[in-house]
Formats: sequence, C-alpha cells, structure tokens
Amino acid sequence: MVAIQKGVSDPGRVIILTAHIDSRVTDVMNATADAPGADDNGSGVALLIETARVLSHYKFPATIVYGVLSGEKQGLYGGKVLAQYAHDQGWRVEADLNNDIVGGDRGQNGVIDNTRIRLFSESTRETELAREAKQRRYEGGELDGPSRNTARYIKALAEYWIPKWRVDLIYRVDRFGRGSDHEAFNALGDPAVCFRESAEDYRHQHQDVRTENGVAYGDTIDHVDFEHLARVTATNAIAAAAMAWAPPPPDGLKVAGGVTPDTKLSWQPPADAQASGLAGCRVYWRDTTEAAWSHSRWVGNAAEAMLPGVVIDDWAFGVASVSKDGFESPVEYPGPQGAFWPAPEAAEEKK
Ligand SMILES: [Zn+2]
Repeated sequence: MVAIQKGVSDPGRVIILTAHIDSRVTDVMNATADAPGADDNGSGVALLIETARVLSHYKFPATIVYGVLSGEKQGLYGGKVLAQYAHDQGWRVEADLNNDIVGGDRGQNGVIDNTRIRLFSESTRETELAREAKQRRYEGGELDGPSRNTARYIKALAEYWIPKWRVDLIYRVDRFGRGSDHEAFNALGDPAVCFRESAEDYRHQHQDVRTENGVAYGDTIDHVDFEHLARVTATNAIAAAAMAWAPPPPDGLKVAGGVTPDTKLSWQPPADAQASGLAGCRVYWRDTTEAAWSHSRWVGNAAEAMLPGVVIDDWAFGVASVSKDGFESPVEYPGPQGAFWPAPEAAEEKK
C-alpha cells in the first residue's frame, strides 16, 4: 500500500519512507497462527501513518512516498516491488528511510534505554563497479556512500530538534543474520537506511505467542513503548521534511588539488526546475577518521569552491545544497562513491 505526496516543483525527486505490514510467528510459513506483530512491524507501520498525517499538512518541492510493504518476511517482496517501480518510473530516489522494529526499549539483556535509536547504513554502494572500487580503495570514501551521509544527516537533525535523544549510527547494512526492505533499494544502487530499536528482546519477535517456564513469548502490544515510538516517528518526520524542503544534493561533484597546498571542489548546480528555491552551497570537510562533518564554509551560489591552505590528502570533503529558507540537503561526498545519483554513463554500465 503506497501513498504519494507529490512534490510541487521537483516531483521526480523522491524521499521514500517504508515499513512492512506482514507478520509471522516462529514458522515463517505458518499463515494461520495468531501473529500480532506489534513491534515487528506494527511499530513501523504506525510510525509511517503518523508521519503521513503530520507531513500531509505541508507542501514540499520534492515528493514523499509512504510505502507499507508486504512479504518482507518471505523475501523483501514489497521492498523489491517498490524499488523496481521507482526505477521503472524514472524517480530520482534521494533516500529510503526504512523502519523495522522501532517501538521497544527493553532489551533481552535487561537494558532499558528510551534515549536512543539505531540507524543502520551500508558503507559502499552495492552496485559499485570494480574500477570505482579500485579508485575508492586508494583515495577513500568507503565511509561516505550516500546511504551513510543520509544517516549522518538524520542524526544531526534529530539530535538538534529532539531533546535528550541520540541516533546511533551503525556502519552496517543491518544486524547480523537479519535484513529488511531497505536492502531492496540498496540492491538497485539507491541510498537507503534502516531504523532499529536500540534494545531488542528476541523473545518478542516472530515467536509463537505462549508462556514457557514463566517467560512470555510473542510480539504483543504490551512490549511497545509509545513515547519512545513517538520520538522515532519525529526523527523520521524531521528528516523526510528537511530533505523534501531542501534542494537536491549537487550533481557531478569532484575534488581536485593533488600535489598543491589547496583543495578545489566543483559540481553542477541543480537545474532551476529542480531547485527553484536554491540559495547556494555549503562545503564541508572533516578529518578522515572523524565520524561527523566538523568544518564547513558557505560558498554562495557557485559551481566551485577553493579552500586555500586546506590540503586534499588530509581531509574528507563534501558539499550540501541549501535553500533560501535554510533547508539543507545531505552532504554529498565527491566521486561515484559519494554520488546520490550515479552519472548516466556509469548507470548504463551497471546494467
Ligand atoms: Zn521486520
């Protein structure tokens, strides 16, 4: 089930929110037993409906798609259908924000923590070409795929706006032995991230509802903390709204300056039709071992920027687009490893 909130000026650019509606007990092929699925994934679906309710009061330049997906447990079928549909329609997918098991805060290990959510993101693009990987291995960028920079963006925004809240970035596609619909987008080369509650109790995930040795098994609603789920929902709403209000990240971003004391960044500013409210760009850089962008400089409405005295070898660089209202895109890292949308010739090669 998909709801489309069409963008007013750049409807081809799409931010997708997803959660899955199917629910299973211990045997994934058991279609008759009671499988309440309150946390996995009623929590994600409730989050999606509430986010749609809130954001539908606003208008955005870009399109927001709310996807309630079926068949996740059977093989990410809903995610595959939506990701393929997006490609068949020629949507420019800026990111999929997937939510799967986001309502609990009492871990099986006894930890109770309602102050944080985990956000998983792939490091490098699944569709990266061998020659791109070879160059990346030399120059870096393995921590700066567009999925990762989307995750950094969400963390920075949510921690700014929501008090006493932490978004923990996990540099992995997902937890060990687990997966969800964001992978279907990653498989086609689209940026996609996945929210997961920080303290999981596996006794309440796809289990036959029963009591055994005094322990209650099953994914029932009493294990969902609604105040916690509201904060995860706000995290999604803030991120999707900010992305949809902001211009798209720059295209064709390149960094140069080897064997010189300065660094030069160049890019193609988005076409007027795609960014009518564009004010300009902000250049970012950080130490190559730093987790978050730490330095930035406003460069105005330009297609290039010089950073005199900043040595290219010592830093990771990126550029974000900024609207006249102050909404910023995620930071894009230079080259194919960082691009939100691969160059047309690379996209052709990937086929
Ligand atoms: Zn799930």
